[in-house]
Amino acid sequence: MLTNSDKIELTELRRKLHQYPEISGEEAETAKTIVRALTPLTPTDIYVNLGGHGVAAVFDSEVEGPTLMFRAELDALPIQEKSNNPWASTVAGKAHLCGHDGHMMFLLALARMLSRAPIARGKVVLMFQPAEEDGSGARAVVADANYQEIKPDYAFAIHIEPGKPWGFVATRPGLINCASQGMCIKLVGKTAHAADPEDGISPALAIASLIPALNNLGTGGALDDNFRLVTVTHVNIGEATFGIAPGDGTLYITLRTAKDQSMHSIVNDAKNLATSIAKEHKLGIEFSVFDEFSASINDEEATNIAINAMDALNIKNGPDGLPMRASEDFGVFGWDAKAAMLCMGPGEHYASLHNPDYDFPDDLLPLGASIFERITRDLLGTKNDDSDQ
Ligand SMILES: [Zn+2]
Ligand SMILES: [Zn+2]
Repeated sequence: MLTNSDKIELTELRRKLHQYPEISGEEAETAKTIVRALTPLTPTDIYVNLGGHGVAAVFDSEVEGPTLMFRAELDALPIQEKSNNPWASTVAGKAHLCGHDGHMMFLLALARMLSRAPIARGKVVLMFQPAEEDGSGARAVVADANYQEIKPDYAFAIHIEPGKPWGFVATRPGLINCASQGMCIKLVGKTAHAADPEDGISPALAIASLIPALNNLGTGGALDDNFRLVTVTHVNIGEATFGIAPGDGTLYITLRTAKDQSMHSIVNDAKNLATSIAKEHKLGIEFSVFDEFSASINDEEATNIAINAMDALNIKNGPDGLPMRASEDFGVFGWDAKAAMLCMGPGEHYASLHNPDYDFPDDLLPLGASIFERITRDLLGTKNDDSDQ
């Protein structure tokens, strides 16, 4: 159970982190704050610098049993916050607008409860992953040699999901979040005087035909296994002048699919299409890839463990609003663990994620912490508890 002072102290800490946001890859101070909060709770081990600034605390019963991992994210977003809260971001252009400051408190709350009442068997890993927002953090953590020592059997995460009733948790076995990937297509031609455009090689017409052609590769629709979506997010041709016919152009697209395998095929389709149009217009072409997210797929057994825990706590849950088109780095942890993502509602009319006025709903801290604790006790029990089997 969380005590009143837990709630007060963790809310204070959450708001302190909110004031000093650090974006993906820059989470050094946030990681230090987390280590400082974990140390007095005497976990068996604290790992630092996992895949960047990642931190993991291990509570080991030293009795055989499964390893459970609970995941939170360290990073904030490069967005200017609009807030009158006394704990508003003090860093211009950066803010915790995805609630990761609060997700970290779910884990610290669990750490406090595990410190007071240790588990009877197995291990708990509290994973504070870096760089969730650009899709690089979970991959880097999993690729870190130290991850082998703490690799879990089960992984769980909670993300606040505005639009759902307060305290309602959406989850289900199967697809939760789509795979996605950013692709930059650079077309290289030659500038010319605007009076003599025929002397140069302009990317303008190639880009004009690429936009609808790329869109046609993935038009969205129902979120089944065949789902493919291409979104053009940015276009640039030449310089903002009147005297020069442009010599190069760039196009940014986001590719989205329901399955990791379909991502490979849509990437190839986009590259082949762009290459043939570039060739037609005598342009050179270069590709680069950004923000690569795996699909996030809930394992059936892990999902049922979470649902049973929520049912026991009388927390309303269901598959409502799932799957989602948006991506989430957590999918990577499901590559070799049984993973389940839970999407918790802060209310139907709550500000959306990444909006400038989003703020983590502190009143959900006890609810999230209680789900994680219940899952832990159901699987790993409590040391010296006679009722525990
Ligand atoms: Zn986000
Ligand atoms: Zn997020």
